[in-house]
Amino acid sequence: MFSRRQFLVASGGLGATALVMGVLPKFSASVALVDEARALEVFEVTHSDSEWRALLSAEQYVILREEGTERAYSSPLNNEHRKGIFACAGCDLPLFSSDTKFDSRTGWPSFWAPLDNAVATRQDRSFGMLREEVHCRRCGGHLGHVFQDGPKPTGLRYCMNGLALTFKPQA
Ligand SMILES: [Zn+2]
Repeated sequence: MFSRRQFLVASGGLGATALVMGVLPKFSASVALVDEARALEVFEVTHSDSEWRALLSAEQYVILREEGTERAYSSPLNNEHRKGIFACAGCDLPLFSSDTKFDSRTGWPSFWAPLDNAVATRQDRSFGMLREEVHCRRCGGHLGHVFQDGPKPTGLRYCMNGLALTFKPQA
């Protein structure tokens, strides 16, 4: 059983045919090597697949571990306007401050900047688009994407899945 992500890693470099046929090539093109490096990316917080399934809700698992996307306007965090910190639902690392949250009118919680040393990005070529994928730098959990059409001062729009975040109001 392949997760969507493993499938993309495998199919990205060598084509789904090789995967379906169970062919394991001994040598691979440079593109495949990049994908291989991605698959071997090591994170500080790691769990087995069954541990993640036990730790997360089914919906959170699909988003964080399989790069799913929640339905627009489904997250209560869209309307969270209190001061506080948005943390990773996978490992609790603080990711975004309410100070950088803005209403993007997209239906997903949006921020113009992450906290320092909180997220990492990689190119996402799924669905025929080139997008910048955003994940937690500590556990690798998929959070959403970052786009270049955000407000000042950064011009960035971190479009996040609310299910990938937990909110901690300022005491
Ligand atoms: Zn995390």
